[in-house]
Amino acid sequence: MKIAIIGTGYVGLPTGVGLAELGNDVVCIDKNIDKIKLLQSGKVTLYEDGLEELFVKNIQQGRLNFTSSMQEGVSRADVVIIAVGTPPHSVTKEADMQYIHAAAEELALYLDGYTVVATKSTVPVGTGDVVESIIRKNNPAADFDVISLPEFLREGFAVYDFFNPDRIVVGANTEKARDIIKELYKPFEGKTNILFVNRRSSETIKYASNAFLAIKIHYINEMANFCEKSGADIREVAQGMGLDTRIGNRFLNPGPGYGGSCFPKDTMAMAYMAQQNGVDMTLINAAITGNAKRKKQMAQRVLDAVKDISNPKIAVLGLAFKDGTDDCRESPAMEIVDALLENNADITAYDPQAMKNAKLLVGDKIKYADDMYEAVKEADVVAILTEWKDFKNFDFVKASALMKHKNIVDCRNLLCPETAKNNGFKYQGIGK
Ligand code: NAD
Repeated sequence: MKIAIIGTGYVGLPTGVGLAELGNDVVCIDKNIDKIKLLQSGKVTLYEDGLEELFVKNIQQGRLNFTSSMQEGVSRADVVIIAVGTPPHSVTKEADMQYIHAAAEELALYLDGYTVVATKSTVPVGTGDVVESIIRKNNPAADFDVISLPEFLREGFAVYDFFNPDRIVVGANTEKARDIIKELYKPFEGKTNILFVNRRSSETIKYASNAFLAIKIHYINEMANFCEKSGADIREVAQGMGLDTRIGNRFLNPGPGYGGSCFPKDTMAMAYMAQQNGVDMTLINAAITGNAKRKKQMAQRVLDAVKDISNPKIAVLGLAFKDGTDDCRESPAMEIVDALLENNADITAYDPQAMKNAKLLVGDKIKYADDMYEAVKEADVVAILTEWKDFKNFDFVKASALMKHKNIVDCRNLLCPETAKNNGFKYQGIGK
């Protein structure tokens, strides 16, 4: 099938690569010309495990191409997938739809023959209707259907999730569009649930899912706070809860709060939509406020650990919003770094993938190390802020020889408290 993907970000690029790997003829379009030039020259523009290998393979086999020309990509396509950003509006915090609207206006001009226009971006309920009317207005003769095709990939696992989705949700209001999407996802038939629903339900499923997961994270963080006061251990509590299949064991790791480009903005957008519809959603609002507080609490915990030291040196391990990605958008680690900087902290940070993106946010206000041991040199405390697997192998003996004070604040419960203590470290994890 001939596919055009608009937007080559964390969703568009892995989706394009995945669809090409399934044998489709894919053209990825982006208005960012520098990005397109890099992609055309064979350079992958973001880090995702396993992406580069498939990217190179599919370019070589001629199934994956890149362009900044909407016409070149769209006019030949059976399916056009919109994967542009929907960031929070600076004032209202609802989803900012300017990129979706611009993409719809532009693509409308080049539709040629029956085309399915699929919105993969996370969009407010009713967006399908809006996109449909924009296209109709800009090209009254066009033959098309607009469907909702929400994306559920996890950053860091985008390639794995593309080939092993928990479910594929399709919001299509016509049989013709449903048949084309059934054909596109034929390789997944019998392997995963493919759920066909109406367009508005599909748009809602995405927000309802992300808000639920954000609430689950907020819940376990509150429970961790309770464990710290009550003498229980959150690791044991989470394990005991997770064995209940109604609860499930995922998203029960306490930490410095949820972050990334999705949960913060999607919870706010959902809260806004609820308010607009006159529906009281107290749980989502509690998660939003609680999560903001959480990051401040964690920053304070790091500051408290060095409160008796003048001009303390803080080693930060992890800047990405979670492991497996170089994405620092809304990263709790970055917000904690900001809070530490407000207190004039002297910070040296290390992250295996995200330092380039972190530099775009904090520049030279912090120092960057080439590895975790360079970061901990002369440090008075180590703050572990992202759950990178590499950090689990923290060598306490090596670090002992490098650090000024043997003190760890582990906001991800990555290290073994007993091993830390046996090596003479002061150790604070979460929820115990
Ligand atoms: P992103 O910011 O990484 O990428 C968006 C890309 O779209 C950019 O490269 C931008 O230049 C391009 N773009 C914007 N307007 C364009 C236009 N008119 N024509 C061509 N290109 C255009 O965004 P992302 O993280 O990939 O997210 C995209 C959407 O997917 C958002 O709605 C997001 O909420 C949703 N989503 C993201 C994730 C995730 O993990 N990142 C997961 C599920 C859903």
